[in-house]
Amino acid sequence: MRLVDTHAHVNFNAFKDDGDEVIKRSLEVGVGMILVGSEARTSKRAIDYANRYEHGVWAAVGLHPTHLFAARVKGDDYSFVTRGEEFDSEVYGKLADFSKVVAIGEVGLDYYHLDEFDVTPDEIKDKQKQVLSQQLILAAKRELPVILHCRDAHNDLLPLLQDFRRQYRQLLPVSRPWGVVHCFSGNESLANEYFAIGLLISFNGLITFSHDWDYLIKKLPADKFLVETDCPYLTPAPFRGQRNEPGLVSLTAERIGQLKGWSLERIADITTDNARNLFNIDW
Ligand SMILES: [Zn+2]
Repeated sequence: MRLVDTHAHVNFNAFKDDGDEVIKRSLEVGVGMILVGSEARTSKRAIDYANRYEHGVWAAVGLHPTHLFAARVKGDDYSFVTRGEEFDSEVYGKLADFSKVVAIGEVGLDYYHLDEFDVTPDEIKDKQKQVLSQQLILAAKRELPVILHCRDAHNDLLPLLQDFRRQYRQLLPVSRPWGVVHCFSGNESLANEYFAIGLLISFNGLITFSHDWDYLIKKLPADKFLVETDCPYLTPAPFRGQRNEPGLVSLTAERIGQLKGWSLERIADITTDNARNLFNIDW
């Protein structure tokens, strides 16, 4: 059985002592992975890791919305220092040239952390939208899919993506999806809006300990979703409280199988196909 963890951060500091061991452990159980960058440094590190493996490890490069301004951010099960990085399309364009880079991400909008910065919320939102648009254009020009992050911002993200698609339609693939909304937080009607513009959605360990998405998952068409861990965060049950890792993505796939009445093997086949199709990877 093969699975792809389509959103892993083994390139983050939480794995600085044993990243390669974690990757090998995951590959041994048939789990390939896309290592997702959040700023220039972690994007480069994602490529460094991917370059060390012949098969099964790929990279995504991008500037996450929370890294546009410097701050110390605290969440429920994480805290980090944000970089205050200025988006440089030349830097990210060069990173995107590496053959192991299969997506631009993670990019998007995050209005959850607006209070942590010394700038007004409107200033932050405007900057996030501007940098997201620049990265969407970079992805389209490189014919790379996008990995989208959205927290408390769907009201702005959806129309921005709809406008983008209208404007850049000739650069986007016709018969394939062009991106994924990772860690999907919305309901069925919102999911359908994203499907309508050619995007997929992705689930992680959250769905193993929250029932908020049970109804949506039961109704989801087979070709519209991916699985991910978002490790080191969002560890699935029954391992909550421990550091998450790509190998645990099977628990999320299993939970989706339970909800849909499908076997784990079937979920693995479907989601791996969907990942191959979106990221053009061989796994
Ligand atoms: Zn992430």
